[in-house]
Amino acid sequence: MRRKNLIFFIILFLILCVSSIGCVPQAPIPERATVFAMDTIIEITVYGVKADEMVTRSIAELHRLEELLSVTRPESDLARINASGGNPVIVSPETVSLLEVGIDFWEKTGGAFFPGLYTISLAWGFTTDEHLVPEDEELTALLEFIEMEQIQILDNTVVIPFGMKLDFGAIAKGYAIDQIQTIAQELTVESALFSLGGEILAWGTRPDGTPWRIGVLHPITNEYLGIFEVSNMVIATSGRLERFFLGDDGQTYHHIINPETGRPVDNELASVTVLATSGVVADAYATALFVMGLEDGLAFIDEVDDVEAIFITHTGDFFQSKGASRYFTPTAP
Ligand code: ADP
Ligand code: MG
Repeated sequence: MRRKNLIFFIILFLILCVSSIGCVPQAPIPERATVFAMDTIIEITVYGVKADEMVTRSIAELHRLEELLSVTRPESDLARINASGGNPVIVSPETVSLLEVGIDFWEKTGGAFFPGLYTISLAWGFTTDEHLVPEDEELTALLEFIEMEQIQILDNTVVIPFGMKLDFGAIAKGYAIDQIQTIAQELTVESALFSLGGEILAWGTRPDGTPWRIGVLHPITNEYLGIFEVSNMVIATSGRLERFFLGDDGQTYHHIINPETGRPVDNELASVTVLATSGVVADAYATALFVMGLEDGLAFIDEVDDVEAIFITHTGDFFQSKGASRYFTPTAP
């Protein structure tokens, strides 16, 4: 009798164990990686059976794009264009099409997005980390040579004006995100999160099928402003705290340049965050809206379909484009 009881309890215990394993959903374990590429720390999280392959291919793609688009690697297409001194340079079709995209955004944003300011960024020492504050005369002299309308493209040959240099820093990471989206599509990955500094790709949904939730902090006070709930969306932020230095005069100088003055943008904004399905679109507009400022930026983006933006001011106020509330829930006051 006792033995029977014991066997009964063991069987019951086993049934309970097996059924509980069957009932409790196992939290899926993602594939994760952290890499440094394109001058940024990149955090990768991918779920699903192809996660491993997705991570490997994405990292390879990020390094490939770095080789192609870096302004500081002498062999890159962009560095060769910049060293051309106004002479024709043959580059890859990919570089040509990205330059065409850059010119297109320059036109669309009335010159706020300006991928031809590299001589100005150099004068401020932003790529060499030997920061200095140039004189206004020096900036005015450099701006004389910078004429986007003078760029010529014929098949794979590019000519830019003597004294001008290109810089894709404001769309390169967005472009990388679009390449990663293509890889995710090819591998039918359904759940992944990529963070490339100021750019976030919320691919698919969370593994449980709910939207990704991404918090928004004020860039200066770190105060929690609200939350994005998004699926298949890119969130790009441009702001004065991404990259900056303290001048000898005690002022801070950051890396987003007002193309009219050659000086860092100085307006009421601390940052702009843009939501779009394309990385290039989100990245280019985030930079452009930051240059435009609050009033012009809001008016501009409200006219663009399927792209939303949140503008955050120094004082901690924030303003949303018309459709942003579909994705953004502010913290209750
Ligand atoms: P981050 O690189 O931090 O994501 P952005 O996307 O706003 O920030 O890009 C800023 C970079 O773009 C600068 O570091 C510089 O290389 C370049 N840049 C600076 N001013 C402009 C501008 N007005 N238009 C386009 N690119 C710019
Ligand atoms: Mg940008």
